[in-house]
Amino acid sequence: MLRVDTVAGLRAELDRRRADHGGVDPVSQVGFVPTMGYLHDGHESLMHAARADCPIVVASIFVNPLQFGAGEDLESYPTDLAGDSLRAERSGVDLLFVPSADEMYPVPVSTTVSVAGVSSRMEGAARPTHFAGVATVVAKLLNIVGPCRAYFGEKDFQQIAVVRTMVADLSVRAEIVARPTVREADGLARSSRNVYLSDRERAAAPVLYRALRQGALRIAAGETDAEVVRMLMARIIEDEPVARLDYAEVVDSTTLEPLPRCGPGSRLLVAARFGRARLLDNMGVSPASSPDGGV
Ligand code: AMP
Repeated sequence: MLRVDTVAGLRAELDRRRADHGGVDPVSQVGFVPTMGYLHDGHESLMHAARADCPIVVASIFVNPLQFGAGEDLESYPTDLAGDSLRAERSGVDLLFVPSADEMYPVPVSTTVSVAGVSSRMEGAARPTHFAGVATVVAKLLNIVGPCRAYFGEKDFQQIAVVRTMVADLSVRAEIVARPTVREADGLARSSRNVYLSDRERAAAPVLYRALRQGALRIAAGETDAEVVRMLMARIIEDEPVARLDYAEVVDSTTLEPLPRCGPGSRLLVAARFGRARLLDNMGVSPASSPDGGV
C-alpha cells in the first residue's frame, strides 16, 4: 500500500495504475472509500467490498473541517494514522490518500456544493452546515480520484441520499455503492465517535438499535400508522436515562420525506446524545417478518 498526501501525487499514481489495467471498464476499475479515519470494522467492510469489486482500491482519510459546525468535535476528532494504515493495508487498499486541509482547500473557500431537499431535515436540521460540507468534500474527492465506484455505509443513511443527489445533479462519473451497517455484538453501530462514550454511556447506547428493531418489528407485524412507530421508538429511547433523544423518524427510503403511512419501503432513523457523543442509527423494514440489520 502506498500513502499519498497530494492531489497531484494521487492523480499521477492513478494515471499510471489505470494505464497498467488498460482495457478494464473505466468506471469500475477504481474502487474508492472516503473516510475521516480512526478506522473500524465498518470502514473495513467498505474496503473489502471495493477490493472484491475493483482492480484498484483507493481510500482517503480526511477530517473535513467544512462538515463540522461551531462547537462540534473537529478539534477532538480521534486520529490514529499508524493504526489506520495497518487496517487499510490489511483490507486491501492500494493507495491511501491523506491530504492536509491546506492541500484540499484554498483559503478562503469560495466554492461549495449544497444539496436542497434531502439535506434539510434530521441531520440537516440538527447540523445546518453539515451536508454542504459533506457534499463539497465528496464532490472534490470524486473529482480528484476520477471515474470510480465509491463506497458508503448505510450507517449514515441521509448522507448517502445527499451524495447520490449531488452525483446525479452534477453528472459526476461515479457509481455510489451503499453497504450495510456493521454493528457490535449488542447491536451498537460501529462509529469512530463511540470512543467518546463512558462505560455507563456505552452500556446505554444499544438502546438506539433496540428502538429501531422494535419499530421495524411493529411495521413488519402490520402497523401502518407512522406516528405510532415514531412514538414507540421515541419512548424506548427516552426511557433510557443516559440518552437525550434528538429525533426518531419514519421516512420514505428514497426521498427521506416523513411518511404518514409506513410499510416495507420505509426507513427508520434515530439520533440521540450520550454525554458528549451524538450517535445515529437507522434500519430498513423488510417485507418478511424480521427487520434487516439484525444481530
Ligand atoms: P466516517 O469516517 O465516519 O466519515 O465514515 C466513512 C464511511 O464509513 C462512511 O461512508 C460511513 O457511512 C461508513 N461507516 C461508518 N460506520 C460504519 C458502520 N458501522 N458500518 C458500515 N459503514 C460505516
